[in-house]
Amino acid sequence: MIMDLQVMLDDEQDQMLSARAAAPRTTDDYDYSNYHTIADFSTGGTNKPGIWLDTGIHSREWVTQASGTWFAKKIVTDYGRDATLTAILDKMDIFLEINRMWRKTRKPNPGSSCVGTDPNRNWDAGFGEPGSSGSPCSETYRGPEAHSESEVKSIVDFVKSHGNLKAFVSIHSYSQMLLYPYGYTKTPCKDQSELHDLAMKAITDLASLYGTSYRYGSIINTIYQASGTTVDWTYNQGIKYSYTFELRDTGRYGFILPANQILPTCQGDLAGSDGHHGAHQGQHQLEGHQVLRITGKDTFQHSLLKEMAEMEHLQLDVWMEPTDLSTPVDIRVPFTSLQTVKAFLETEDIPYSVMIKDLQVMLDKEKEQRLIAARAAEPRTTDDYNYSNYHSGDESYEGRPLNVLKFSTGGTNRRGIWINTGIHSREWITQASGTWFAKKIVTDYGRDATLTAILDNMDIFLEIVTNPDGYYYTHNTNRMWRKSRKPNPGSSCDGTDLNRNWDAGFGTAGSSSNPCDQTYRGPKAHSESEVKSIVDFVKSHGNLKAFIDIHSYSQRIMYPYGYTATPCKDQRELHDLARKAITDLATLYGTSYRYGSVMTTIYRASGITIDWSYNQGIKYSYTFELRDTGRYGFILPANQILPTAKEAWLALMAIMEHTKDNTN
Ligand SMILES: [Zn+2]
Repeated sequence: MIMDLQVMLDDEQDQMLSARAAAPRTTDDYDYSNYHTIADFSTGGTNKPGIWLDTGIHSREWVTQASGTWFAKKIVTDYGRDATLTAILDKMDIFLEINRMWRKTRKPNPGSSCVGTDPNRNWDAGFGEPGSSGSPCSETYRGPEAHSESEVKSIVDFVKSHGNLKAFVSIHSYSQMLLYPYGYTKTPCKDQSELHDLAMKAITDLASLYGTSYRYGSIINTIYQASGTTVDWTYNQGIKYSYTFELRDTGRYGFILPANQILPTCQGDLAGSDGHHGAHQGQHQLEGHQVLRITGKDTFQHSLLKEMAEMEHLQLDVWMEPTDLSTPVDIRVPFTSLQTVKAFLETEDIPYSVMIKDLQVMLDKEKEQRLIAARAAEPRTTDDYNYSNYHSGDESYEGRPLNVLKFSTGGTNRRGIWINTGIHSREWITQASGTWFAKKIVTDYGRDATLTAILDNMDIFLEIVTNPDGYYYTHNTNRMWRKSRKPNPGSSCDGTDLNRNWDAGFGTAGSSSNPCDQTYRGPKAHSESEVKSIVDFVKSHGNLKAFIDIHSYSQRIMYPYGYTATPCKDQRELHDLARKAITDLATLYGTSYRYGSVMTTIYRASGITIDWSYNQGIKYSYTFELRDTGRYGFILPANQILPTAKEAWLALMAIMEHTKDNTN
């Protein structure tokens, strides 16, 4: 949705600073096409019927304050020129508040470390009912009591003392909607029919300028249940024409609407801001990102979650997709979407917890550890290499070779076992485990009877950094990068999901055709060189008997298929062997893994690695999902590398030994 938030913010700041150069501030020379830091306008009057407009009650919605400022000028300049406005002003007063505050107020909450109250949940209209939060840390915290916030109280006092307001319009952004009461109840307000018709006329008039499409309806029917809102209170005070506006856009820029859209926004609107977003972000943009663990209570809630995950403007990153009801859904939520997502979940009564409170804090810790370890370790042999840390190995990525380690005790074209890790670059536990596996193979040969027997009869191939470009990118730009890094012509989004690019059900349900998606399958099967090089290797070798593709996280061992529910012909044997593998694995630390086919254990996934390898005749094709089950997700702490690798090794050994004994 936002390709580089900081760049955008910097641009915005630059523009604001240059705008400050224009010192004089009259309604004529004020630069309405830019964001300003201070903007206070008011009009006076006697006690004629009044119309109230307020903007900026949620402070980050800058386009609203900017629009409000332009409205002020418009009112002044149109009077005496525009017949309609002149007639209005001759009979009525217009009150315009252009204030500026945080989304929440800044008043501390006694007994809590979280500051502020949502001023649009603090009104005495359904106050405290569902549609607001009782937790001071929530973005929709309603406050200790109705009208507890001075910003709200001052409007309440004004409205009551004026006593003759006839319209009240509260202006927000973004999402392009015009809403009337109620938010706290589904019971239609008694003027619903008139308010509805007027809203329709308003959005029709609005669209006449630039064709911009707005939605309209009551708050609860159009967005979600919201209690204690401004316009519900004003309506209940007898101000019939109470409306909430949500200005542009529908998500391309969200709260960071570019300054060049201010004028079109308040005049009417520009057509068609598309929903496309850049999928990459600079490292510090993960500040404030949270990972939510969501547990749908029934299939209806699950379908709601799927719909939410597909709302492009929220830019959600689904770490763990909705599967069965017993499995939670993990979603990385960018800071700008947190409020919306949490309000949605709370409104729909979908239970969730915060799995990772601030992703950037976690990443900073990870980086610190890496630097310490890098300084300590100089020589690189299989003995003195530090297996218990994440390494960046930046010197080996200049040419980014797709290195495959071959462990062989001789012979020619012996039966082979393939293992790859890191095809999804952010799953760092896998590359780290792969590195440890390499050492384990070397040191156990001649000591461990089972491994020795395997290596005396077979070769093992190990590709540790299967997606080197993505891996480099996770170290230098975006820790959360999953795909390859090849640009996609005609799209601003880079990369292909290397585990959806294989010629096995390629292009069917279970992958995406959108380059901006995490599961983008690529333009055609094997289009990615990282995939193609394995395809070529497997075909030219011709004697591979096992193929193991290692991912994280969720603790599972799975066999084909992902693209079809039809059981593969070796299902029974693969199932029994998976059970043995997870049983052996659990003997070390008691770690519990699940097992089954990809489709039945996780979800439908097409074009995946092991479906292709299985269809090539490599019977023992498995996908591993290593630790954990969600406490840390992809940011598994380095002190879990060794236990994770050691227990997974037992599962690998079970599969490798079985392969040795059951193939020829
Ligand atoms: Zn993966």
